Amino acid sequence: MLKIKNLQANIEDKEILKGINLEINPGEVHAIMGPNGSGKSTLSSVIAGKEEYTMTGGEILFEGEDLSELDPEERAHKGIFLSFQYPVEIPGVSVTNFMKASINAHRKAQGLADMPAKDLLKMIRDKSELLEIDRKFLSRSLNQGFSGGEKKRNEIFQMAMLNPKLAILDETDSGLDIDALKVVANGVNKLRSADNSVLLITHYQRLLDYIVPDFVHVMVDGKIVKSGTKELAYELEERGYDWVKPEKTV
Ligand code: ADP
Ligand code: MG
Ligand code: MG
Repeated sequence: MLKIKNLQANIEDKEILKGINLEINPGEVHAIMGPNGSGKSTLSSVIAGKEEYTMTGGEILFEGEDLSELDPEERAHKGIFLSFQYPVEIPGVSVTNFMKASINAHRKAQGLADMPAKDLLKMIRDKSELLEIDRKFLSRSLNQGFSGGEKKRNEIFQMAMLNPKLAILDETDSGLDIDALKVVANGVNKLRSADNSVLLITHYQRLLDYIVPDFVHVMVDGKIVKSGTKELAYELEERGYDWVKPEKTV
């Protein structure tokens, strides 16, 4: 599904990604861990096509197609979902209306007409039941006064509605309380399927107690320095990151 070869990328002429190789097959959940500043968020942003980042080498193939010429919206319409690290508040726009707008924007990009209201409401009902989202939540103003857990719930709900082929969940360095963590984990576990893949970027070994990844990668200084299975996450929890860091050549 996703094949990254020797990816190099800069922010403002500063080299951040220094040759990343990563292959994600349908149905797999990959976790990327690593110390702060190692380039994890840069990797997710480059895959999603954010414009502040410049790819300086390598390739990103999604279902065999080179993504480099596509803007973030086009990538989203191909089935790549990137969770918002900083959700926007939209006073006066309800969660339901936001979901309608998201779905219809995707359909429009594929040359499809708006989804009939009846079908949309059924989909909203089905997905909100699956994720145990209550009705009151659906009529609230988007992100306004949402707790950390509610923001995550909204994000996972949007992910469920859009049903992406590849979901990239990049957790911010701070602020995920245990409720929010469980919302993310339950959602991801319920939405996991043989066709969809997840790239989970996290500082929290804790999250991996709830979402069991197929593969764990450690990123240090713009490179993946170690890959393994979930056991690697436990090892990192016990030993920290120093032992996986490559020798410093000063
Ligand atoms: P991580 O997600 O692993 O904490 P990031 O990808 O956010 O790492 O950051 C990698 C490096 O890029 C850090 O050294 C950070 O300071 C730098 N960086 C990130 N965003 C920007 C930006 N917008 N402008 C300049 N430098 C940035
Ligand atoms: Mg960071
Ligand atoms: Mg980050």
